[in-house]
Amino acid sequence: MGLNPDVTALLDEFKAIRHQIHKNPEIGLETVETLALVKSKLDDYGISYENIGVNSLVAKIDGREGDTTVAFRVDMDALEMSEENGFAYKSQVEGRMHACGHDGHCTSLLALAAYLSKNRDFNGTVLLLFQSGEEGYEGALRVIEDSFFDKYKVDYLFGYHAWPGLASGKIAVHKGACMASEDRFEIMVTGKSGHASMPHVCNEPFAAVADIIKGLQTIVGRKIPSHERGVVSITQVHGGSLRNGIPDNVMVQGNVRTCNESVQDLIEESIAQTVAGAAAIYGVKAELDYVRKHPVLVNSVPEIAIKAAQKAVGAENVVTDMESSMAAEDYAFYMKHTKGCYVWIGNGVDSPPLHNSKFDFNDEILAVAASFFIEVIEELL
Ligand SMILES: [Zn+2]
Ligand SMILES: [Zn+2]
Repeated sequence: MGLNPDVTALLDEFKAIRHQIHKNPEIGLETVETLALVKSKLDDYGISYENIGVNSLVAKIDGREGDTTVAFRVDMDALEMSEENGFAYKSQVEGRMHACGHDGHCTSLLALAAYLSKNRDFNGTVLLLFQSGEEGYEGALRVIEDSFFDKYKVDYLFGYHAWPGLASGKIAVHKGACMASEDRFEIMVTGKSGHASMPHVCNEPFAAVADIIKGLQTIVGRKIPSHERGVVSITQVHGGSLRNGIPDNVMVQGNVRTCNESVQDLIEESIAQTVAGAAAIYGVKAELDYVRKHPVLVNSVPEIAIKAAQKAVGAENVVTDMESSMAAEDYAFYMKHTKGCYVWIGNGVDSPPLHNSKFDFNDEILAVAASFFIEVIEELL
């Protein structure tokens, strides 16, 4: 019970590694230096690994005999924004910053690697997946397309995110949906252009666009059951270039979030109906391009995570009633292929939010995350 003493003993060493990664943020799939550092540490620990996807890596640690494989996934990429922190290890690259804590995520998996290199007394195999490109670069899809689930028999996959607003030392586990789906849509409404003084010889697209926007904003309130959550946001409208001219086209873009696949289906269907209805009423052409970017992240084995978290931080520090987030996370793609659970680990109640220019990963999480992972291994292997 409690944080693993072998891990807490290494905390200073791993804080230094985390600060090194924080100083050198890399974007998207280009996590070259970060990956080189990960490899050099795995070499030090005598752990074998192979490249997968684009600048991602899988390390493999065999225990004793046993055919169960438990994998842990972390991300490594930073964001294109400037850091406003003043500490010594702040980003040394202007316009880039680790504002989502992925520097800490990948360091905590190195701490687990260091521990496992000396503690292989488990039955089965542990995989450590260091992933690039989580921040909208499809890093997880590149790993899956590179036959991750064919090359390795992954029985379980666990992951976590540092979570602002949750107290340091606490772990939150969702029994079901943890992070939202994200879909994007673009609607192109096409009429017929002409002089603003003679609308009767044109077919102006704005009336249809106005109805579409109003219609989309009633979907969540009128069509989604009140116990479900959903967001439909219009994010861009572009059309026209003249003071006295009616344009041919108006483009509308938007973003959809849900915590339930059936709600996602219902919203997509309702948007299509609204667009087709407005096109019929106004006699314009309205084309909808609806793209599903991320599935809902649904935890399939929360009970295993809850047990492991209780052992790592004590039952009083495990929270199971937090609302799921409307942010998306590409770990969700892995959950279409195997069982697993994604947890939140407290970054502190006063922590700036994720993607904020003053955000910093709470180094105390390094020991919490590694201890949690060790307890998951004890549970399953
Ligand atoms: Zn992020
Ligand atoms: Zn993140």
